[in-house]
Amino acid sequence: MKIISNYIDGKLQPAISGQYLDVYDPSKGSVYAQAPDSGIQDVEDATYAAQNAFEKWAATSIDERHKYLIKIADLIENKLNELAMAESIDNGKPLWLAKKVDIPRASANFRYFANAITQFSSEAHDMGGTGINYTLREPIGVAGCISPWNLPLYLFTWKIAPALAAGNTVVAKPSEVTPMTAYLLSEICMEVGLPAGVLNIVHGLGHKVGAAITEHKKIKAISFTGSTRVGAEIAKTAAPMFKKISLEMGGKNPNIIFADCNYDKMLATTLRSSFANQGQICLCGSRIFVERTIYERFKNDFIKKTKELKVGPPLDAATKVGAVVSKPHFEKILSYIKLAKEEGGNILCGGKKAALNGGHKNGWYIYPTIIENLKYDCRTNQEEIFGPVVTIMPFDTEEEVLKYANSTQYGLSATLWTENLSRAHKLAKEIDAGIIWINTWLMRDLRTPFGGVKNSGVGREGGFEALRFFTEPKNVCIAY
Ligand code: NAD
Repeated sequence: MKIISNYIDGKLQPAISGQYLDVYDPSKGSVYAQAPDSGIQDVEDATYAAQNAFEKWAATSIDERHKYLIKIADLIENKLNELAMAESIDNGKPLWLAKKVDIPRASANFRYFANAITQFSSEAHDMGGTGINYTLREPIGVAGCISPWNLPLYLFTWKIAPALAAGNTVVAKPSEVTPMTAYLLSEICMEVGLPAGVLNIVHGLGHKVGAAITEHKKIKAISFTGSTRVGAEIAKTAAPMFKKISLEMGGKNPNIIFADCNYDKMLATTLRSSFANQGQICLCGSRIFVERTIYERFKNDFIKKTKELKVGPPLDAATKVGAVVSKPHFEKILSYIKLAKEEGGNILCGGKKAALNGGHKNGWYIYPTIIENLKYDCRTNQEEIFGPVVTIMPFDTEEEVLKYANSTQYGLSATLWTENLSRAHKLAKEIDAGIIWINTWLMRDLRTPFGGVKNSGVGREGGFEALRFFTEPKNVCIAY
């Protein structure tokens, strides 16, 4: 049994309570590790350490911070195999995916922000002959970073790296469902000699550790990625305390396919945007709208390709769809498939759990599922399922599909497939979403603003947006 520790003030330590939470291997449905069941006092200690470390860290030169972050990026890269294996076992995602996407991106997050901080600058406003203003951008202090289970190290580092680069110290909490790679990151930070207290990682439950971070008076900013429900709870606590908040939340993203698209590219990408990471990516296109003239062709091809996706153990190189992350999540996804049937949905493929053999017979596997015959405004098409489940619906006009696309409470991302340039630009402007992909999906440039509108998000991560979030602007006005 692997035992995970908190990382507070540069040291690995258990929770003060001495209690642990079970950590599951979803591919087997069994406990394989234990993580600290921390509480208010652990967060208190972590915040105290972060406060003590702040002044010195904020005063380090950009060059010095750059070097620390590059060292962390290098070590993540060197430990690719170990980290990818840990992520795959913890989360249920195929090992090849963790190796190709999750871990390289975690390293890229540190590398990107190590470099971005060297290019970050502030504005000056000249007032003609009378004077000049310039803006100082100073670190905020202690930042709280709370992340989810779907891309564990990838999203954890997406927050921590800019916070540290900008000169803040951090109290961070990974998801209790997938704590392993956050723990391995603490070992990496010790190996590179990151000064004690600069980064503190407290493991435990959301309503205990997450809430304690949100409520702590000395934590000045909260960067959160997770569900819209928890985002709302955080906002409720943090807003009257006047904390800075960045909330990256749920999605129900439309994938809009016009008849004039590059069909083969669209089909291959739609397979990915539907089922990659078992559909557990906030950016997955879970509502697929297809222009009626190609609907039947698309439907048949898409079903055929989906049935070819191998559902299997994450460590098997041939597996395309691994296990979903936990038993409650497995049950939630199956309950939505049941709801879809009750709402009149026709299950075209999948629609049930996948029973594997041997050591994996108790794992949480679901066949990739395609559902048709549902109205755009039914619950299945309005609520986030966050699993390998998509719906397909025909449409006739741009106006109609725009209404469908914008009908949910969410507005994270959208994908458009068309070779008609004017239509693509027009719809990109009209769709309510923070990110629009045209003839591609999940093509990322870390310099761009990342986040959603409506109930998908408040604020933006990525690029200088993240560095602006983790700094406080101060205007200095000088009269000539
Ligand atoms: P979640 O909201 O249940 O948990 C996210 C994190 O918040 C976890 O670390 C959890 O322990 C913590 N938490 C729970 N209750 C808390 C509380 N009361 N106070 C403070 N922290 C608390 O989300 P999840 O199930 O881990 O992740 C899935 C969700 O994340 C989906 O809705 C998905 O769309 C969303 N997500 C969004 C993005 C994005 O960039 N917009 C990216 C990935 C995932």
